[in-house]
Amino acid sequence: MPNSFDVLIAGGGVMGCAIATYLKRFAPTLRVAVIERDVTYARNSTVLSDGNTRVQFNLPENIRMSQYGLEVMATFADEMAVAGERPDIGFRQQGNLFIVDASSREECEEGLATQRGLGADVVWLSITEVARRWPAFALDASMFAGATFGRQDGTLSPHAVLIAYRRKAQALGVQMIDAEIVAITTQQGSVTGLRLADGSNLRAPIVVNAAGAWAARLAASAGVALPVDPVKRQVFVLETALRPAGVLPALFLPSGLYVIHEGEGRFTVGKSYADDPVRDDDFTLDDARFAERLWPELAELLPGFDRLRQVGGWAGLYEVNTLDGNALLGPWPTLPGMFCANGFSGHGFQQCHAVGRHLAELILGKTPTLDLRRFAAARVLEGRPVFESRRRII
Ligand SMILES: Cc1cc2nc3c(=O)[nH]c(=O)nc-3n(C[C@H](O)[C@H](O)[C@H](O)COP(=O)(O)OP(=O)(O)OC[C@H]3O[C@@H](n4cnc5c(N)ncnc54)[C@H](O)[C@@H]3O)c2cc1C
Repeated sequence: MPNSFDVLIAGGGVMGCAIATYLKRFAPTLRVAVIERDVTYARNSTVLSDGNTRVQFNLPENIRMSQYGLEVMATFADEMAVAGERPDIGFRQQGNLFIVDASSREECEEGLATQRGLGADVVWLSITEVARRWPAFALDASMFAGATFGRQDGTLSPHAVLIAYRRKAQALGVQMIDAEIVAITTQQGSVTGLRLADGSNLRAPIVVNAAGAWAARLAASAGVALPVDPVKRQVFVLETALRPAGVLPALFLPSGLYVIHEGEGRFTVGKSYADDPVRDDDFTLDDARFAERLWPELAELLPGFDRLRQVGGWAGLYEVNTLDGNALLGPWPTLPGMFCANGFSGHGFQQCHAVGRHLAELILGKTPTLDLRRFAAARVLEGRPVFESRRRII
């Protein structure tokens, strides 16, 4: 195996594999390697994600990134086919329904105007209209101000998207290296490559940090303090007596509680709490969390969920950007050669296509198709946070 490359990508999740694919599409002779320590992807956030995509953001950058994702989805199976095998990513465009309360109404209306200004298909609905369209989501109209419904939003298989990018990258000539990275190496203040756990070194003038929830740990090995925390999130799978006609939209309540209909009586639910553990090695599912915290809220708001069975679930890690909750993209100003694709804070899966293209453009010195300068990693050092929302949505 060669040990010298033009670009090394640390982490073979959806970001790492998408960046590698775009690099090789733009520059077929570039020598690119992706280093991943666990190709079963057991703890990888992409695979443990809910796989939801939405155009319902407030910042134009986030909206445009998701819109590009939708564009990519339209031809994904053909574009990503390898040896005639077309990936099936199971895109279910059932729409996302965000319930709005009085305190979030003004901000929501501003967001809606921005989304529609960018051509997104999002509409305002009254709580009565929500109940008429989807009786399973009949809410107490005195508690909420209305809802926004984005018809283009939906859910797809993160595992299938990740594997499609991985296979495509490989087919385009990217070297996949199955190894644990222990450090980003530097010399005279610039990146020189990566050191692996077996003591060997890979050399390259450019290293992309795509290590997800472990990104800060990797950056620290080169003396860089990246504000990215690994935060445990849990998803519970429910079997209910509900049998809605068709697939319901994914429901997001102002408290952060979300309910995704998987078909028939099956739903996945989750909610982020301020006391979610911040550590990168806890993947146990805490059933009591559902029984004692999530279920009482769910049953109180949605009577159809008063009787159900929790039939499964899983825990994964958000890579939370503690500065402002948005992506950290591009070069790290004080360490030439280090590029970031980090801090996606629970909404990274849908951004993988835009991030893949953007990082490849930056690395190759091309003019970026999307202007994502507000998400430049440099804002950490400049103390310039860019907040998506006055309230938390996913
Ligand atoms: C429960 C949950 C639900 C989510 N729901 C959504 C959603 O609905 N929509 C959405 O858009 N996003 C969602 N996300 C967020 C999304 O999953 C992430 O933002 C995205 O997948 C990040 O991709 P990544 O490639 O950066 O990280 P990962 O997929 O975690 O990949 C990073 C890889 O780096 C590897 N790695 C790390 N350190 C090393 C090392 N030292 N050596 C070698 N390899 C290393 C890891 O093994 C891992 O495979 C969710 C996340 C979770 C946990």
